[in-house]
Amino acid sequence: MSDDATPKTSRHLGGISLNFIPAAAGDGQPTASRAVARESVEVVEARVVIVGSGPAGLTAAIYAARANLQPVVIGGLAAGGQLMITSDVENYPGFPDGIQGPELMGLFRKQAERFGARVVDVDVERIDLGRRPFRLWAAGVEYRAEAVIVATGAEAIWLGIDSETRLRGRGVSACATCDGFFYRDKEVGVVGGGDSAFEEALFLTRFASKVHLIHRRDQFRCSKILRARAVAHPKIELHLNRTVEEVLGADKVEALRLGRTDEPGEELLKIDGLFVAIGHRPNVAVFRDWLETDVKGYLRTEGATTASNIDGVFIAGDVDDHRYRQAVTAAGEGCRAAIDAERWLESQEAAARSSAVAAPEQTQPATA
Ligand code: NAP
Repeated sequence: MSDDATPKTSRHLGGISLNFIPAAAGDGQPTASRAVARESVEVVEARVVIVGSGPAGLTAAIYAARANLQPVVIGGLAAGGQLMITSDVENYPGFPDGIQGPELMGLFRKQAERFGARVVDVDVERIDLGRRPFRLWAAGVEYRAEAVIVATGAEAIWLGIDSETRLRGRGVSACATCDGFFYRDKEVGVVGGGDSAFEEALFLTRFASKVHLIHRRDQFRCSKILRARAVAHPKIELHLNRTVEEVLGADKVEALRLGRTDEPGEELLKIDGLFVAIGHRPNVAVFRDWLETDVKGYLRTEGATTASNIDGVFIAGDVDDHRYRQAVTAAGEGCRAAIDAERWLESQEAAARSSAVAAPEQTQPATA
């Protein structure tokens, strides 16, 4: 989209340098509309660009902003991450009475902006991490960054039925650790046949009076040990060869309409909450061609740091974490990534300074 030979104008906005590449003159349109009509390229230069505005991205933004790096956060059209679809958050430290997910993310954002982070609610469409500055394109703007922090998170995979979407956050959840506590002495359903489903089901037995594990086959993907524990658990009842056809309830979950995969027929199962545990999908689409992924498709970090396989690109949050997937662990990773990025930028600048000092000495003419 951009061309380095194209003349640009630039200005500063909140510490961020903006370059505008004007459209060609003489097309008879006023300058502003001409820029839009010709898809003029606006270039935003930043020392750090953070992609993602969940707990990881915004914590990285707080730390980077406080380190005077003036980060730009490309937050995504669905800004705020998975907490935006979570109602009560009771396990985020510092909120003894709990807090609503969207409210918590609003506070994260306010804190980042207070220190000078600029958050733009657009999706990254494509990137070029092949040379520095790195380039990211989003909504007609080219972002150039010395360092990039990828914090795009992961999404729960849902069943994809209308009633599930309608009752999400009102009894339908994808996180037993987050929402299990609300089902003390109630009956819940868990869908899935992998490790996640079995772990969620076992976790839920701490609260629920009964856990109905619903799986579409009679074979499981989960580990043998989890299966053995679940089968032996007095609170867990298996419903095999069953699919969830509909979640019933006007404004909260009341029952499931189950279909059968082994023979014709339907059943009604009364429950108070449904946990969908059929997997997660890391949001790696635009990064997949550049950054290494592990066997599960999550971005891979180097050793104990947040560094990726590309120097100057760091990774934080659920996009590289299929194990913990908690807001507080994501926030911690955002902090680590910002510190890693800051130190890396410093080392680059120190290296540039010492080569600038060394260079004139090397070019001194030899004296007789
Ligand atoms: P998974 O292993 O892919 O299992 C997903 C399960 O959901 C499968 O049983 C699958 O059924 C079912 N499923 C998928 N789509 C469905 C649909 N539309 N309707 C109904 N059922 C559906 O996912 P996971 O359990 O989240 O595990 C992902 C990875 O993380 C695995 O490698 C797992 O070992 C790992 N993990 C490890 C731990 C641990 O070690 N503590 C904990 C959690 C996850 P089918 O079997 O019929 O395909």
